[in-house]
Amino acid sequence: MKKIVGILIFVLSCNAEDKSETQKQENTIIDIKVEEVTPDFNNDSIYSKVNPLVLSSYWDAFVKSAALYDVDLNKIEDVTFISENLGGSTAGVANGSCEDYVLISVDETIFRNLTKGEQIFLMYHELGHDVFNASHDGGGLMAPNVRSLEYKLFQTEVEDFFTGEDYIEWTEEECKIIRDLTDN
Ligand SMILES: [Zn+2]
Repeated sequence: MKKIVGILIFVLSCNAEDKSETQKQENTIIDIKVEEVTPDFNNDSIYSKVNPLVLSSYWDAFVKSAALYDVDLNKIEDVTFISENLGGSTAGVANGSCEDYVLISVDETIFRNLTKGEQIFLMYHELGHDVFNASHDGGGLMAPNVRSLEYKLFQTEVEDFFTGEDYIEWTEEECKIIRDLTDN
């Protein structure tokens, strides 16, 4: 008789443990679901695809960012990135401002030492010049200094740029000066 009681208690306690184990697992699953990923340059679906060793990857990103705001850049085909020495302190130059082509020079030795955010800012800025003839007067994305930007602020600047809220085109007079400079 004593033996049977012992077994029963054992079985009951086993069930009790199983339950709490299941409960624990449920709690873990719930914890994982609640955890949110903070968006940044590395996990963003567009920016995570850029590769500093493949300069044209920044064009692909720029086209995708524009598409988010219904700006279609797919018809632009004359897009060239040149790797060249820009004198030691300049990472990138837009050579296609006021022209109907996109021609970006990049000093890769400087470019590769920038942070991912700086690299994306620089490329979007130079492409802003060449694709939209945007001047520095609009500020935001077109402000004339390379800055290390916090992801969220950059997203706001990109949105403002593509929705036309803060970019101002070079005037015809400025374009003439730019063309004269780049003709050399
Ligand atoms: Zn600029």
